[in-house]
Amino acid sequence: MLVTDLHHFLDLPPDTPGPARRLAEHLSNIVRAATAGDAGTTWESALPCRRRPANRRCPGQMIVLRTEPQTPIRWKCSVCGDEGVISNWEESLFDLRRQRLALADPVHEIVIGAEVAATLRELQFLDTDCERMIFAIRAHNGGAILAATDDDLDELIGSVAAEANHEPNRRRQQRLDAAFGALNAATQTPDGW
Ligand SMILES: [Zn+2]
Repeated sequence: MLVTDLHHFLDLPPDTPGPARRLAEHLSNIVRAATAGDAGTTWESALPCRRRPANRRCPGQMIVLRTEPQTPIRWKCSVCGDEGVISNWEESLFDLRRQRLALADPVHEIVIGAEVAATLRELQFLDTDCERMIFAIRAHNGGAILAATDDDLDELIGSVAAEANHEPNRRRQQRLDAAFGALNAATQTPDGW
């Protein structure tokens, strides 16, 4: 059981070694997922496991549980049993809890690939609503499910397109284009879009 205090992982100096930086990223992503999703319920996010037993990436995803403030976030891998708790997540940069009531617009559930989910998590310029939607992506049959309203999805597609247009790295641009295509296709399925 990995017991961590998020405050120890914020503002790491630039010379921090890779493993510590990767752990910091892992923990901050878990906090984002746990605060983006519903409180009081255990759910499986699309965040991949950080472990590489025998040099192969563990295929598991992070199962997260957030209950209330002042209570650590719990996380666990769906496959290998890697698990931990994170305290002091409240009011951090990665705390995506809503500050106001959500709108009651209908939410569509869009099945996307794990690759697309990973690309979305790397988007640089997101408002908090988009970031919350991305970190609330759930694991589903080896892929993922994005829950979004029409407006959310429009905004997300716009962000992906803008970033793809300005991306100098060709491989990353291809990943952004693939994500754009997947989201765009979802808006064109016949079930009421
Ligand atoms: Zn694992």
